[in-house]
Amino acid sequence: KAKEQGRGRYQFFTREINEKAQARLAMESQLRGAAGRGELRLDYQPLYDLRTDCPVGMEALVRWRRPPDLIIPPGSFIPLAEEVGLIGEIGDWVITTACQESAHLFSRHPKGFRVAINVSPRQLRGGAFGDWVCRQLTEAKLSPEQLELEITESVLMDDSPEVGETLRQLCDLGVRLSIDDFGTGYSSLGYLQRYPFDTLKIDRSFVVGAVRDPNAARLVETIVTMAHGLGLETVAEGVETAEQLDFLRACDCDIVQGFLLGRPMSLTDLAERLG
Ligand code: C2E
Ligand code: MG
Ligand code: MG
Ligand code: MG
Repeated sequence: KAKEQGRGRYQFFTREINEKAQARLAMESQLRGAAGRGELRLDYQPLYDLRTDCPVGMEALVRWRRPPDLIIPPGSFIPLAEEVGLIGEIGDWVITTACQESAHLFSRHPKGFRVAINVSPRQLRGGAFGDWVCRQLTEAKLSPEQLELEITESVLMDDSPEVGETLRQLCDLGVRLSIDDFGTGYSSLGYLQRYPFDTLKIDRSFVVGAVRDPNAARLVETIVTMAHGLGLETVAEGVETAEQLDFLRACDCDIVQGFLLGRPMSLTDLAERLG
């Protein structure tokens, strides 16, 4: 009897695993060529300077309109794209599109306004990335300081010399480099010393924690002080309440981003809001 039950359960699990694998395969095959078919689009979330309350830039965030009419957030397809080798074509599309779309918006805004783009580890390998980014800037008529590339700690964990060289090349060009989701990965302090970052983005989880727990608050204060000591600008992610905003201002954080100040939105909506 027990044996029969065991077998039943085994079959149940295999079926479940098969269904998951099938769903993944289906998603993979639909994702292949999605950029070329016009199924990707970018939303932009504004970033505000805490001292002047003025917008200083925006972050481009990719979405996939998966047929027939689902909108898939990046967290649900970027990891798959990375795994199956589709991040190259998606990542290229994101950079080209964000440069072109923002050049249009920037022509009406003072210098110093920038677009931040998320970059996956794979994109930095291979050695050709720096030159390619440079061409995208030229074609879009953007200056390098108007582009910021956001890199998570997982990129840096793969400590290949190519990644370091590419980051230095981009830095020499004048492209800004930002460390994203700071504090959520593995020992990031060494990376801050080793790579030429301009900006440190404090992960949302710390912002949420800071107004609840004095230790978390002290942690955020310390991150800001440390970043400033290293000559880095700080951006706080995921600001949702006025209380969080006040706290960040008191901490001397430089820039804020979050639903309180503006959700990710179409370029047209952002242009309208910026006036
Ligand atoms: P991220 O770079 O840390 O981007 C911030 C995420 O937090 C965005 O989620 C944004 O919508 C969300 N967010 C912003 N403000 C708030 C807030 O006040 N509250 C809450 N709860 N969330 C907020 P999204 O658009 O779903 O993107 C998720 C992640 O996907 C990004 O995290 C980034 O790591 C990745 N990603 C997005 N676009 C790209 C891309 O073009 N390429 C790559 N490689 N990764 C991307
Ligand atoms: Mg980011
Ligand atoms: Mg982030
Ligand atoms: Mg984050």
